[in-house]
Amino acid sequence: MNRKYSHGLVWFRRDLRVDDHAALYHALKACRQVFCVFVFDRDILDALPRADRRVEFIRESLVDLDRQLAELARPHGRSNVGLIVQHARATEALPALARALSVDAVFTNHDDEPQSQARDAVVAKALAADGKAFHSFKDHVVFEREEIMTLGGKPYSVFTPYQNAWLRKVDDFYLKAYPVQRYAPALAARPTACRMAVPALVDIGFAQTNFAKLRIPTGSHGGMQLLDDFMTRIDQYHATRDFPAVRGPSYLGVHLRFGTVSIRRLAAAALQLRDQGNPGASVWLSELIWRDFYAQILSNFPHVAERSFKPAYDAIAWEQEPRASTLFQAWCKGRTGYPLIDAAMAQINQTGYMHNRLRMVTASFLVKDLGIDWRRGEKYFAEQLNDFDLSANNGGWQWASSSGCDAQPYFRIFNPVSQSEKFDADGKFIRKYLPQLAGLSGASLHSPWLATPLELAGAGVRLGDNYPLPIVRHDEARALTLQRYAPVRKSPAG
Ligand code: FAD
Repeated sequence: MNRKYSHGLVWFRRDLRVDDHAALYHALKACRQVFCVFVFDRDILDALPRADRRVEFIRESLVDLDRQLAELARPHGRSNVGLIVQHARATEALPALARALSVDAVFTNHDDEPQSQARDAVVAKALAADGKAFHSFKDHVVFEREEIMTLGGKPYSVFTPYQNAWLRKVDDFYLKAYPVQRYAPALAARPTACRMAVPALVDIGFAQTNFAKLRIPTGSHGGMQLLDDFMTRIDQYHATRDFPAVRGPSYLGVHLRFGTVSIRRLAAAALQLRDQGNPGASVWLSELIWRDFYAQILSNFPHVAERSFKPAYDAIAWEQEPRASTLFQAWCKGRTGYPLIDAAMAQINQTGYMHNRLRMVTASFLVKDLGIDWRRGEKYFAEQLNDFDLSANNGGWQWASSSGCDAQPYFRIFNPVSQSEKFDADGKFIRKYLPQLAGLSGASLHSPWLATPLELAGAGVRLGDNYPLPIVRHDEARALTLQRYAPVRKSPAG
């Protein structure tokens, strides 16, 4: 077979698998010998707290990826194939490694977050200066960038027509898996100097969290395990997905974030079941399409990373200091006095996961009950969520604050008590995360401040002591928010 290049290097980032991997496939096809690298990028890691569940997920997934690369090469008699792992600044390490390995080209998958694009531009420039090529490919989404546009040639900013266009366009071509295995003989043995095991956490300056105790499956194997489990429940997804105490969703978010599963495989499976009339699969497919939708919003409207999608919303005057910080801290710590909000914040703080319904309700509460700038909540979620993804997180926060494309209207304000009564009716979720309230009866569990002193005493609940009184009154907060949002009432996009 004629190959374009002698040696190539695949740079893994948010695509930690070998199965159906666009850049790996293209590299193996184009080069006689292909090396693989992952860089623990100091430009990202040095800004993180010294214990972070995501770093542990990545580390475990790299061990899996390393093993997969070796397994892919073994049937072809290739030994010492595996992942080169570095802990360095990617902008410096990549060009240096490309030089050291004398590769002709670097292959990677697109990452459309603004900071990643800036990093890739620096790497591409350094490689070009050395006469080396830089190729990157779509892998993280089904449709990206400007692939789905309105008839007028503009990006969509409303979900339903976007989804219709997505469904019209999708076919086997877009969902078929890249046959990486076929080209595996091109995998190169690592030079002796690069044959190190994946570094331990401590070697990259991190301490353990409670990640091991959470038993979150990692790597491609973990992703497949979760997918297999979800496939036994997917037909009920539409009915169960809104109830945080029920195992309704897939829990694949972190795997989609780090690419330990292929979005094409998931979308193909969902589409096939949907076509067979599976109602859960149809709704789940819509969620995957929301993911593409927000990714193309970030790519086509990068200002959303800093500002409101709808500029009029940047005129809103948020709560002032020092009250803003007091309220924000109470929200972060799950000390608002609203049990569903506090249980949800306990979930994210203890596990790095929060159920989608609760992400909507807690985000709305922060912005529309406490009057805090949505960007503060967005940043907190970005620090805590295992599946943190800039485009989806920003989309979710701008939806909740009404500043986003196709967002919740500004006057729709979730009532934290009725949301609790509706979606955690028997209080199972609240009792799990707020054991100090477990003794309260059904009705009082959603609004303990309405319970009689006798009931509170009987349940061992001391309001203002072992559980807070509400930090705001919802009806008052609601009225204040409607005033706060006055500047957007006059705007055409309001
Ligand atoms: P499932 O219900 O099984 O959904 C499957 C997949 O579809 C998810 O893993 C995710 O990739 C995608 N998806 C589902 N809902 C959405 C959505 N509304 N927007 C975009 N993609 C979606 N999702 C993230 O992946 N990362 C985030 O940082 C993130 N932050 C959010 C912040 C807020 C304020 C809100 C309201 C939502 C956020 N979401 C985010 C969307 C959604 O809550 C999560 O994707 C979902 O809860 C992850 O759990 P799951 O994998 O079990 O989801």
